[in-house]
Amino acid sequence: MTEQRNDLGVLVFVEQDEGKPADVSLELLSKARELAGKLGKRVGAVLPGDGVSDLAKRLIACGADVVFLAEGPELKHYTTIPYADVVAGVIEEQKPDIVLFGASLVGRDLAPRVASKLRTGLTADCTDLQIGDFSDKNGSYTNLLYQIRPAFGGNIIATIITPDHRPQMATVREGVMRLEPPDESRTGNVERIPVHVDGADELVQVIERFKAEKKVNLKAASVIVAGGAGVGGKEGFELICELARVLGGEVGASRAAVDAGYIGKEHQVGQTGTTVRPKVYIACGISGQVQHRAGMDESGKIIAINDDPGAPIFSIAHYGIVGDMFTIIPTLIEAYKNKD
Ligand code: FAD
Repeated sequence: MTEQRNDLGVLVFVEQDEGKPADVSLELLSKARELAGKLGKRVGAVLPGDGVSDLAKRLIACGADVVFLAEGPELKHYTTIPYADVVAGVIEEQKPDIVLFGASLVGRDLAPRVASKLRTGLTADCTDLQIGDFSDKNGSYTNLLYQIRPAFGGNIIATIITPDHRPQMATVREGVMRLEPPDESRTGNVERIPVHVDGADELVQVIERFKAEKKVNLKAASVIVAGGAGVGGKEGFELICELARVLGGEVGASRAAVDAGYIGKEHQVGQTGTTVRPKVYIACGISGQVQHRAGMDESGKIIAINDDPGAPIFSIAHYGIVGDMFTIIPTLIEAYKNKD
């Protein structure tokens, strides 16, 4: 095992857009605090960008002990090679045990590039991260990162380790880790990283940017009404939308409903969709396979409407209604409209 040189336990890549940090980066700082606490080490944040130094204080409040700030006009927008050079440079210098990236479009591009540069492993889309030990015929290892994620189509939950190479690297989707409230009293250091981007590294240049506004915000919703394959079509989803409207909620969906074209992918909840924790989650015509449950089983109250009393969704529902959703939902809508 490579010897660790210093006391940096976990390094988080902080993704930002015009100075606004990605939620997933802040969530990862919360998780990094927990992991580094178990290792008795510090948390670092690597922040590339241009004019982003104001963000450092917020990253410290969210859990970083040290912010490695790399600023320059070449880093204003994300491009693979310059960002990979900065992140790999900080890793080579600081030798953290663990490096975490959000499984965003940027993180999914950057993390494999950095892993291959450093000749280490990377586990994508982890649903949990823990610290633990491992031993086999080759030896015993302590304080490894358990990189936990569903595998083989969700039929098993795999725990993946990187015993012999450093750092141990993982990506995590937005919403999977809990965001702890920032602690403004925390203190930390900011270390400026020199940036040398040579022309040959700028293979891609951003000439103009267009931003599509997010129309669906599942993560922020306190009520979600979600439909599955049992909804049967686009028309069926009008009923789901109507219930969501009456309750002031958002519309969610299972992957089966999305794949069938009943509703857009931005509504998908689950392992490969959004992870949500609303106060109330109403699952209509959703069987409740493990990949769907992974994205909603921490909801405050789960109400399931399904005509199959044996559907797995009932095993995690706080309230279950067995029956035809096309009879039950209109009754719910009427009852809610007439409640005062
Ligand atoms: P079904 O399993 O077909 O269930 C439909 C349910 O509707 C049934 O229980 C049926 O009894 C009920 N029903 C039918 N008619 C009515 C009616 N009139 N009234 C009431 N109930 C009715 N799935 C996700 O949701 N999100 C993910 O992110 C996701 N990621 C995945 C990743 C991988 C790698 C894999 C392999 C799978 C993933 N899946 C995901 C798919 C998942 O395994 C299931 O196939 C999917 O969740 C099933 O969706 P469903 O419950 O809507 O459909």
